[in-house]
Amino acid sequence: MNALSERIARLIRFSGPISIAQYMAMALHDPACGYYATQDVIGAGGDFTTAPEISQMFGELLGAWMVRAWRAQNCPSPSRLVELGPGRGTLLADVLRTARQDTNFLAAHEIVLVEASARLRERQAALLEGAGAVNIRWCDSFDEGLCDRPLFLLANEFFDALPMRQFAYNERGWCERMVGTSDSGALRLALSPSPVPLRIPEHRGTPQPGSVYEVCPGGEAVVQQIASVIAQHGGAALIVDYGYGAEPGFGDTLQAVAQHRFADVLENPGEADLSAHVDFAALAKAAVDSGAVAFGPVAQGTLLMALGIEKRAERLMREAPANAADVAAALDRLVSGEQMGKLFKALAILPPGASAPAGF
Ligand code: SAH
Repeated sequence: MNALSERIARLIRFSGPISIAQYMAMALHDPACGYYATQDVIGAGGDFTTAPEISQMFGELLGAWMVRAWRAQNCPSPSRLVELGPGRGTLLADVLRTARQDTNFLAAHEIVLVEASARLRERQAALLEGAGAVNIRWCDSFDEGLCDRPLFLLANEFFDALPMRQFAYNERGWCERMVGTSDSGALRLALSPSPVPLRIPEHRGTPQPGSVYEVCPGGEAVVQQIASVIAQHGGAALIVDYGYGAEPGFGDTLQAVAQHRFADVLENPGEADLSAHVDFAALAKAAVDSGAVAFGPVAQGTLLMALGIEKRAERLMREAPANAADVAAALDRLVSGEQMGKLFKALAILPPGASAPAGF
């Protein structure tokens, strides 16, 4: 048991079992021992590799998408460019390099990075300020200060890291899956003794005994806020993550990953990344309920192909033939169905009346 699991076990002894969401929040964000506070998380030397870390093409195409969305709304100014969970800052650096081709876009935007980890903020500042980006600020969460002007927002692998709750179906109904302790004091999963009333989206189908339903109230709340700013002031959000589309099904998707391998979810909290499938249908519904329109989700491979990733790859190969094999491998990783192309999906949120954006 590490120091954080001992602390969690003590909390449980005094207050009773905690929800999976509370457990995730402590494991990821505890200021002393949490994963994002202590680990070097992203990239080949970290625990997992994300699309912008695979290739610059990802950020360049998303950057061009944003500039296009801004132009399609008659270039609003002043406007705000926000990224949720920017990691090492690579995606935003690639977006800004592409956006620089339209100097009006940069001049119109205040840039805000929503980042909970002090450690990652430092990395982001070093990369972006080194690349000459100005007019940047940081905040801890999507707050009131981001609600007064048009909003152009990006989020890649942010929603999968948000704490979610799990409910298991049994003869009593839906009982919440909780984290408790065994007699020896180790953390273990347990079910809440009494069932809770739940309304399950119809497209999920009929639950069987043992079915697990996951819900991410924090993710839905952020999307509601984003969508109401976009509905009111204009803008566009592009959310990319791994997860469910509108297909039916139930499942326990909570996973722990350390050094590019799966780990036990309850062992050594704070030392592995915890994430879960994103329910895109639920996010789209949250956006529509808040007065915006949602497009997608479309598969990441489909979106990147529609945005011209093959052409971009050919050009990079021509410019630097020595890197051709790396570019081809990155292209395959981003778009092929066996790799990130299908499991990863993109959702776009636009103001009411907007027509479908590029790639959707
Ligand atoms: N978008 C990046 C990093 C993804 S990892 C990339 O594609 O490489 C998740 C990121 O979200 C990290 O930067 C993490 O610190 C941040 N994060 C996770 N939960 C958060 C929360 N609740 N509030 C703010 N930032 C959070």
